[in-house]
Amino acid sequence: MDFIKVKKYFNLNMNDFLYIDKKFNEIISIYKKKRIPLLIDLNNFIYKNILLNKIFKWILCINKINYNTCGKCNECIQSNINLNINFININNFIIDKTINIEVVKIFIKKIYRYNNSKNNTIFYIPNLNLLNDISINLILNILENYNNNIFIIICCKNINNIPNTIISRCFYIKTYIKNKLLIRFIKNEFKNIDIKIINIAINIYEKSYINIINFLINNYNKRTFFFNFFYVSLINNNFSNLLININKNNIKIYDILYWLIYLFKDLLIIKTKIEYIKNIDQIILINKLEKILSVDNIFKIIDNITYHINNIKKNKYINKSIIKYNIIIFLEKILLNK
Ligand SMILES: [Zn+2]
Repeated sequence: MDFIKVKKYFNLNMNDFLYIDKKFNEIISIYKKKRIPLLIDLNNFIYKNILLNKIFKWILCINKINYNTCGKCNECIQSNINLNINFININNFIIDKTINIEVVKIFIKKIYRYNNSKNNTIFYIPNLNLLNDISINLILNILENYNNNIFIIICCKNINNIPNTIISRCFYIKTYIKNKLLIRFIKNEFKNIDIKIINIAINIYEKSYINIINFLINNYNKRTFFFNFFYVSLINNNFSNLLININKNNIKIYDILYWLIYLFKDLLIIKTKIEYIKNIDQIILINKLEKILSVDNIFKIIDNITYHINNIKKNKYINKSIIKYNIIIFLEKILLNK
């Protein structure tokens, strides 16, 4: 197996959420050159399934170009990765509720069996911390002895319990933890505000204290209003009043774009069966959208919103009314098939 000398560690800082796709592309670009096992530290990492889904899809896509999947092949379209014959999850071999040595042996045998397969195959361990020392040693032995069409992806919840011998053989992605001190501080500052709302603010704005405060004081009601109206528009199959109401209530386009991008990222989280979403008060809207949208369309929407946010950032004098109009028309087109 070839080892190309490239960066061995990757620090994934989750604060700048808007650039998450760019970060994922960076990860894939490094991973592409290395082809050594991927080790992801999932400690409190709320976007883990988005990241994993992106990597899985990229590996399995048969027409991929650079970091992009084609979005058209069977591998890209299939929404449940577990149905893919080239995706092998160690958990599938569990019999007695634990990942014992027998399970690990079956898993390793599978790797050898697929070693000469023409197609890319993913071997996935969702939580290495669940394996005992003997099993981890078995895994260690396989890490340097497999072909280029095999992709071993290992996640762990606590990197401190993973032996260095494993870490040193992997391309290791370290993810940051959210700031617990900040959460405590805001809870103290805003005793009268519902804890659920504070959590939403922290979820959405993470470490940006100014944005969190601004949201709690000025924007929470506007956001609720916006989502309610968005939901009504969706139910009525008619978006024509949405723009009028946005303007009437003086909701800023920048806020709308932010709320929307997090909402659609939540949708992606729901689609990929993660357990944690940000907009915990909007579950009805999220469920409704989930039934309408394919993963590809969610990515399309996220790309479009990101594009507008970047445009506003680059040019403060940009005509914001036109962006409002464009984004509503775009959503209408995708959501209502118009
Ligand atoms: Zn594809």
